[in-house]
Amino acid sequence: MASSPVIKDNLRCRDIGHHWEEVVMSTRRDPEWGRRRELYCGYCGTIRLELINYYGEVGSRSYLYDDDYKTVSKVPRKEARAKRAYRRRRRGKE
Ligand SMILES: [Zn+2]
Repeated sequence: MASSPVIKDNLRCRDIGHHWEEVVMSTRRDPEWGRRRELYCGYCGTIRLELINYYGEVGSRSYLYDDDYKTVSKVPRKEARAKRAYRRRRRGKE
């Protein structure tokens, strides 16, 4: 059975990591001691929220995961790499 592109993209992130882009999604104000930074991964939809002080130090970091990615995030990275390699081999035979 063919998998959806979303699953493939989730495996990509689990294998080699997220592709972060800085975005502005929230209208919340920056703290007086620094700023909020919002990052988004277009491959799997994960959002990373950080509070950074004026020295560039991260005060807090949290992640919001898409439900599909939550499932893939439990897959060991080695297994994610193996699944992607398998799919590449399969594509080569079509
Ligand atoms: Zn991602």
